[in-house]
Amino acid sequence: MSRVWNFSAGPAALPEEVLQQAAAEMLDWQGEGVGVMEMSHRGKAFTTIAQAAEADLRELLAVPENYRILFMQGGAIAHNALIPMNLMGDRKVADYVVTGAWSTKSQKEASRYATVNIAASSESSGFTTVPALSDWKLSADPAYVFTCTNETIGGVEYPFEPDLACIGRGEVPVVADMSSHILSRAIDVSKYGLIFGGAQKNIGPAGLTIVIVRDDMLGRAMPHCPSAFDYKTVADNASMYNTPPTYAIYIAGLVFQWLKRQGGVAAIEAQNVAKAKLLYDFIDASGFYQNRIDPACRSRMNVPFFLHDETHNEAFLAESSAAGLAQLKGHKAVGGMRASIYNAMPLAGVHALVDFMRDFAARKA
Ligand code: PMP
Repeated sequence: MSRVWNFSAGPAALPEEVLQQAAAEMLDWQGEGVGVMEMSHRGKAFTTIAQAAEADLRELLAVPENYRILFMQGGAIAHNALIPMNLMGDRKVADYVVTGAWSTKSQKEASRYATVNIAASSESSGFTTVPALSDWKLSADPAYVFTCTNETIGGVEYPFEPDLACIGRGEVPVVADMSSHILSRAIDVSKYGLIFGGAQKNIGPAGLTIVIVRDDMLGRAMPHCPSAFDYKTVADNASMYNTPPTYAIYIAGLVFQWLKRQGGVAAIEAQNVAKAKLLYDFIDASGFYQNRIDPACRSRMNVPFFLHDETHNEAFLAESSAAGLAQLKGHKAVGGMRASIYNAMPLAGVHALVDFMRDFAARKA
């Protein structure tokens, strides 16, 4: 067996220890005589797995008591529709802050269910930055303000938490798509009305979608919102109204345990800071590679970069792949390269990437 350094944006690398434990338990989970995929979601064994996963996630993110954690399906794209369907209530307008491809997609989808007000946008900068909170123009009575706090494609991450109390609008709930940086840094959950994200970057397999929602946001769903996607119904049934993605929840639980063994979110954040610094500092000093994002808003998770001389792109991809560095091609909307360095990517993997990039530049310069 030979594993590569996997820089995929998602589905992405998982901690090897987690995969090994899952492999060991594939046929027989802790003496049950069946694997997790073969268990009833209502049985004692799976209930134990799901409750532990939820408790560990609550502990890792210090989720307050008045928030519910939902294990759902649909991915972040489905929740772009489910969020207005669940949260509009009697209100007409939802505010969106647009910072790249994912928040653009979210606001377009929401406009099918609500009147969307673009409260702020960094489009004029080419989505290379995050508009300062003081420049957000909230509408009079929005149901919520939507943010995507890490733009996976553009490589832009909020350098601040969107705390609307700072602009005198603390009564408006903030919704955050944290798909690509959840659990990578400490956050104050109490600043948000709803946090959501697909699992396939920092948590586990695709198919599981995490929703963390404040109690008072529940019970406002539109009459035609599907029952299985009504956040209140899901919360009232402890994520078992329908059959949840059981195996994905099990793997997520193993990832949460792994993260706790690493020292939790604060410890992984310190590693993520070190990894991102190593890569960005090298890129900036190289004279061969370039990252175009406002340095204050550079993502610690997704690092897009370009070769100054793009005629070397194909060789870069072929040679990096041959050197065991996989999935470095940039998103088609951006071009160039992108290295996604989520929690499961160790510092050694980033060193391997930088060593390759230095050597490649020396050979081609
Ligand atoms: N939002 C963000 C920030 C993402 O990175 C992604 C996936 N790359 C999505 C939404 C869409 O997720 P899914 O395809 O799982 O619906």
